[in-house]
Amino acid sequence: MKSPEPVGLSSLFELSTLQKEGMEVWLDVTLERCATWFRASGATLFLKDRDGEVRLKSKTGHQSKVPLGTAIVKGEGIAGTVLGTGEPRIIGDPHSDPMLKVAAVRDEIASSMVIPIIGMAGEEFGIINLSRSAGEESFCAVDLDQAAQVAATIAMAVSNAILFDLTQSTMITLDRKAEELKAVLSCVAGSVYVFSSNGCFEKGGPDSGPVLDEATRAIETLLVTRESHDFKVTDPKSDKTWLVHVAPLVSGGGVLTVQDITSIQKSQDETARLRRLAEIGQMSAAIAHELRNPLTGIKGSAELLRQDPALAADFASIILDESLRMERLCNEFLEISKPLKLSLKPGKLSKTVQRVIDLWGPEYAAKGVELRADLGTESVNTSFDEAKVEQIAHNLLRNSLEATEAGGEVVVETSEGRFSVQDTGLGMDSETKQRLFSPFFTTKSNGTGLGLCNVRRIIDAHGGRVDVRSETGQGTRIEINLRDNAA
Ligand code: ADP
Ligand code: MG
Repeated sequence: MKSPEPVGLSSLFELSTLQKEGMEVWLDVTLERCATWFRASGATLFLKDRDGEVRLKSKTGHQSKVPLGTAIVKGEGIAGTVLGTGEPRIIGDPHSDPMLKVAAVRDEIASSMVIPIIGMAGEEFGIINLSRSAGEESFCAVDLDQAAQVAATIAMAVSNAILFDLTQSTMITLDRKAEELKAVLSCVAGSVYVFSSNGCFEKGGPDSGPVLDEATRAIETLLVTRESHDFKVTDPKSDKTWLVHVAPLVSGGGVLTVQDITSIQKSQDETARLRRLAEIGQMSAAIAHELRNPLTGIKGSAELLRQDPALAADFASIILDESLRMERLCNEFLEISKPLKLSLKPGKLSKTVQRVIDLWGPEYAAKGVELRADLGTESVNTSFDEAKVEQIAHNLLRNSLEATEAGGEVVVETSEGRFSVQDTGLGMDSETKQRLFSPFFTTKSNGTGLGLCNVRRIIDAHGGRVDVRSETGQGTRIEINLRDNAA
């Protein structure tokens, strides 16, 4: 063994090797100097690895037989015990110390000093273990104090190395994320702008004009509500449409995207126009078809009336019935073709529904169908168009009466913002359930198929919902929900 170079206490805290040659060399040099300074015949340095195991990282002197990488078992031997307690200690007589009983002690060790390496936040990084041979004096409190200071320097260097590693890997992750973000942004068909917490764009911003005005307003709202939202902006001058989306960033401010959707909007408008044309065509055919039946009746009756005026009373009543049917058809057609304008007022649904129930009472009684009402109390007002909701109730009560035989029962229920009509009538098969809201769909010989179509229009205009439950032979339950409109 080469004779140790003279070592001053300050050299134990020398960090230049760390910068020049890296952590491993610096640890070897420092341990070597410690051994010399403390006149130790052997020294080991154990450090925690990434996997949490504390392993032998550096050694010198008589400990050189222990292979590097050997892990300390917590609680076992001097090292394992000190690691668990965090207390530095001197073992004066290794043979009598119970802590050393389990360790393989060589005869030449007379005194040991074990110092934990503990970080600023109390985290255990490892230990330094120094031992003196027989014949040397035992370690004393001054040695222990000095060794603890060296351990503190090592702890600082290790913390720095860990922080450096962490920063390095964070930088790599950040670089990767930035690259991903760049790729994502390049795939976005539109412009993306970031704005700060005072609403100013960090770079550029939408061109002046309608988008900038609307975007500025949206950003102001977002800075208050912190909620993302999107909206369309149309410029009648250039006939262009944009989709604008704003979303908050956790760090304050947010992101604004602007997408030119002019061509998408145009093709949507065109599709809607074609659909309307198709509906008008369907409607005209259906109207002609519906009017032809009563018209045939009226024409035939008039013909027969001309041949035999004595039957005037009979034919006049047929003509009157058919005319009334035509009138009803015309009214329903008109109702459907008119754009729906609601006159919303806050109120209680149960009152409106009750009025319609009262009107239907006599018809139900005449057919022998029981009509029951279970009108619950409503604590909040619902905003609805009274006349239109009456129309819904009329249609549902008419359908239920038509579907229910004498002896059956129809129950009307109301609660907060909704009402339902349930009957014990003939129910619906799956095809009927699919088509019942389509205009002119009817399974009745004298039906118009417009009742539920109109019901749907009114509910949609209220922003409400309709649920249908029905089984053939079991009856039907239709529930209308206008709750979203609670005022
Ligand atoms: P219409 O009553 O003129 O047939 P609607 O639009 O009111 O037109 O109803 C469409 C179809 O839905 C009816 O023909 C019927 O087949 C079915 N339907 C509606 N309500 C009920 C009900 N309560 N029970 C059974 N079937 C019903
Ligand atoms: Mg009907």
